[in-house]
Amino acid sequence: MELIGWRRPPRIVGHNLWGVFLQSEASVMSMINVTLPDGTINEYAEGITCAEVITDALGRKHGCLAATVDGVEKDMSTKLTSNCSVVGILSTSEEGIHILRHSAAHLLAQAVTELYPGALPTIGPAIERGFYYDFKMDPITEADLKAIQKKMQFLAKQNAVVERIELNEEDLKSHFEHNPYKMEIINDKLEDGAGSTIYKQGEWYDLCLGPHVPNLSRLMFVKLTSVSSAYWRGDQEREQLVRIYGLVEPTKDALQSTLKNIEEAKKRDHRKLGKDLQLFHIDEEVGQGLILWTPRGSIIRQELQDFISFHLRRQGYSQVFTPHVGKLDLYRTSGHFPYYQESQYPPLVEKDLMKKLADEGCSCSELANLMKSGDIDGYMLKPMNCPHHVKIYSSQARSYRDLPLRLAEFGTVYRWEQSGEISGMTRVRGFTQDDAHLFVTEEQIAEEVLGCIELVQIIFDKLGMTDYRVRVGLREPDSDKYVGQSEAWDKAEDACRSAAQSLGVEWTEEEGEAAFYGPKIDFVVRDVIGREWQLGTVQVDYNLPERFDLLYKGNDGEMHRPVMIHRAPFGSMERFVGVLIEHFAGKFPTWLTPTQCHIITISEKHKQYAQEVADLLKEKEIRVLVDDGDDTIGKKIRTHRKMQPAYMVILGEGEAENRTVSLRARNGDQVSDLPLDQFIDDLMTEISNKESQPCLVPIQQQSED
Ligand SMILES: [Zn+2]
Ligand SMILES: [Zn+2]
Repeated sequence: MELIGWRRPPRIVGHNLWGVFLQSEASVMSMINVTLPDGTINEYAEGITCAEVITDALGRKHGCLAATVDGVEKDMSTKLTSNCSVVGILSTSEEGIHILRHSAAHLLAQAVTELYPGALPTIGPAIERGFYYDFKMDPITEADLKAIQKKMQFLAKQNAVVERIELNEEDLKSHFEHNPYKMEIINDKLEDGAGSTIYKQGEWYDLCLGPHVPNLSRLMFVKLTSVSSAYWRGDQEREQLVRIYGLVEPTKDALQSTLKNIEEAKKRDHRKLGKDLQLFHIDEEVGQGLILWTPRGSIIRQELQDFISFHLRRQGYSQVFTPHVGKLDLYRTSGHFPYYQESQYPPLVEKDLMKKLADEGCSCSELANLMKSGDIDGYMLKPMNCPHHVKIYSSQARSYRDLPLRLAEFGTVYRWEQSGEISGMTRVRGFTQDDAHLFVTEEQIAEEVLGCIELVQIIFDKLGMTDYRVRVGLREPDSDKYVGQSEAWDKAEDACRSAAQSLGVEWTEEEGEAAFYGPKIDFVVRDVIGREWQLGTVQVDYNLPERFDLLYKGNDGEMHRPVMIHRAPFGSMERFVGVLIEHFAGKFPTWLTPTQCHIITISEKHKQYAQEVADLLKEKEIRVLVDDGDDTIGKKIRTHRKMQPAYMVILGEGEAENRTVSLRARNGDQVSDLPLDQFIDDLMTEISNKESQPCLVPIQQQSED
């Protein structure tokens, strides 16, 4: 591999931890001190590049594609001119992958402009799973991607050096005068008279601040995935562009495993499985982002709610119910209105008032202003359950004996997500939080936070979600934007830390991630294909008790302010079930499976026995469905396995005569002639134990699918 800006190494004068100790050939050159990640300080001639320093320290196979110099990302070719610290960026690191993706976007633009000479590149960022680039060009189809990808691989093989070039304003503009999009960026972003940089590979160049890979051979492992359309600057009034998406990885193996994970993700996609398994429905006529839970999906939700409720009761929570709307004044007090208006459905205005305003010729914008200023009142779909629960707290005089007061509700809230953001069950406009608010004394925070965490652990364990981590959001030191006393914050932060610690899973502290009203704990689940899902949160709050002037009488006879803890550890039922569908790939544990047993008869003659078995199971509250139709047994099995029952119960001559059942598991494994009574007992045990997988059929082979 050729490194850009590689020069003959200076004379070797000694050794150290990192390898060789270098010094410039002549003492006329001035020397600089470069600090390496292990603390070693090496002396080099001024003007040495990052690449040379890293090669010196780690050898030529260092695997880095850029570096940070005093914490700022730089190209490998960057010359060092003063004392600094240098850390290599590995191509496999998070920063490295980002640079790889961004560099691949440039390569894509080069390939497209070479294949389609009229195409104009606009912008091309790295994104979470890869990169895209938007072009002004005639529409293309997925079929065209193959040729573009081939061109990219060809260019990568040519291995041009990627050069950073600084240009003054005039030169910059002359480089891009053929491209009005780049000109618009230059005119918008650049202060008058300021220059910028371009990155050049071969004859092709792009406007960019970098950093980039040192050479194109780093970009061998690319795959273009899709093409769609986009508007210039996301503005529907502006030009329509062609957007090409792609993936890039540092190695062939990494690319293959990414592609495999994407395939797996498609199979597990809860939007597809939700439809196939008839779990939920979204109807344009009802509204975007509003989930209709169908009977089968509702079973999953109800089972989960029952399970969570059981543990809430055990932990001393009280169930409450509150309405879906509240007056604007309530949200003025809580602070949700008018400040978070753009993320809420518009307010509702009473119809008599609406008529009066209309008669007075009030315009829409006047109406909005009247609401904002508080001159008229209205109602809002609730964006949060907290204000309602606060009102339950303050409905009575409270004393320290009432605390902690734990109010739980599966409360439905409404938020206005942009239509482009809405997706399946995981980004919606109406959702039911597994919400609760705890009103506690300062001293009770630690124990109550711990209680919230315990519940999460129990439920994750039961669902086999063992791979999760916890983020503790702390305040930014020395900032004055937070409400509450500093000492109180210290205690609450410690409580969050030790609760997180008690889980025994990976956890991190994140300074500056606390809300202005209190520290918090977030839960992030990693699924089997490595994707992370942010679920819910436990949040300490010093603000709402203040805003609503909540009080309790202490055992000292004085009035004190309680602290609130908001907790919705699974986020919402919609999101949680969406994640669970993908986590289980639709193959739920028996206790969550919508229809646990599909009873299938081999022929007409076994109808009666089938009905008898079904009745016995139903008596035990086991969910069954009977297929005693005329189809062949093979056809029935193929049809029913699509719905992923925990068991197919196959009944024929032998079973009816001996009062037994034969079971077929999801993977095709079978067990024959189980005595009926034993089957029912075992199945009930499996369900009440909430086994994470069906276990009545011994595993005999690898799964069929
Ligand atoms: Zn760039
Ligand atoms: Zn809340």
